[in-house]
Amino acid sequence: KQDGRGTFRFFEPEMDTRAQAHRALEMDVRQALARNEFELYYQPLVSIDSRRVNGFEALLRWRHPSRGLVPPDAFIPLAEEIGLIGPIGAWVLRTACMEAAGWAAPGGGAPPRVAVNLSPLQFAGHGLVETVQAALAASGLPGERLELEITESVLLQDNATTLETLHRLRRLGARICMDDFGTGYSSLSYLRSFPFDKIKIDKSFIQCLADSEENAAIVRAIAGLGVSLGIATTAEGVETLAQLEHVIAKGCTEVQGHFFSPPRPARDVPVLLAAALQREAA
Ligand code: C2E
Ligand code: MG
Ligand code: MG
Ligand code: MG
Repeated sequence: KQDGRGTFRFFEPEMDTRAQAHRALEMDVRQALARNEFELYYQPLVSIDSRRVNGFEALLRWRHPSRGLVPPDAFIPLAEEIGLIGPIGAWVLRTACMEAAGWAAPGGGAPPRVAVNLSPLQFAGHGLVETVQAALAASGLPGERLELEITESVLLQDNATTLETLHRLRRLGARICMDDFGTGYSSLSYLRSFPFDKIKIDKSFIQCLADSEENAAIVRAIAGLGVSLGIATTAEGVETLAQLEHVIAKGCTEVQGHFFSPPRPARDVPVLLAAALQREAA
């Protein structure tokens, strides 16, 4: 009756409740940036060769006043839907570069890099390159210390503008990484369209490594592909020593997962770096 468009509506109470919850979340997410409720957590990316921390992946969290710590899967799709991923993504880039600029090199080695996830919609909008450039300039972080993680959905259109954007980001010094590799439709063809610096093997393959010969063969093949292409391969979601040994045997070059550390608040980064150094000494 209220929307007066002469449409015939048929209410299910359950649907109504869900729509209301969705609207409430939408209203909250619209305020979250202004209220400073976003935070970045960081998870170490560990080199298999040196056992050193190469860098940290920045993972967005929303500290909601009543819902608690909200994981990204619970609000990023909504932020994309309502056109907020641009400003949120820009905040992530700025904050990640700013925080990473303060990270000291452990034991005099190379300072850790920071990896930032990009939504496909940040490529659709304008100004991504300028946003990255501004984040680097404001923080003083050298472009070489920034990794940008994209999923193959970015390349779905495979249009010239997207590729040009990737090349411009690369020219800022940033490394371009293919995230969640193996979960999409035709992953291999995307590796042909752009010279990625790193492939991150989706955790669904890592976590079932021991269960099937097929999974093991796939991980070995992707790691081999990395060797042939001369690029890094990261095993995501390594939780156990058995999985770590598996991915080492398959030839991956980097690991990430709860086995080393879950994502932690920014203030824990120095402790994670020191712990890695201790492990190295042991
Ligand atoms: P992702 O980029 O593939 O990030 C890795 C996800 O795997 C993270 O989930 C991380 O917490 C989780 N993970 C890491 N190690 C393990 C493990 O050993 N076991 C298990 N079960 N999980 C592990 P998280 O933080 O919930 O993030 C989920 C997704 O949200 C990310 O997947 C990424 O696609 C997206 N995301 C996170 N932050 C941002 C952001 O700033 N911008 C955008 N556009 N997307 C983001
Ligand atoms: Mg990622
Ligand atoms: Mg991933
Ligand atoms: Mg993922």
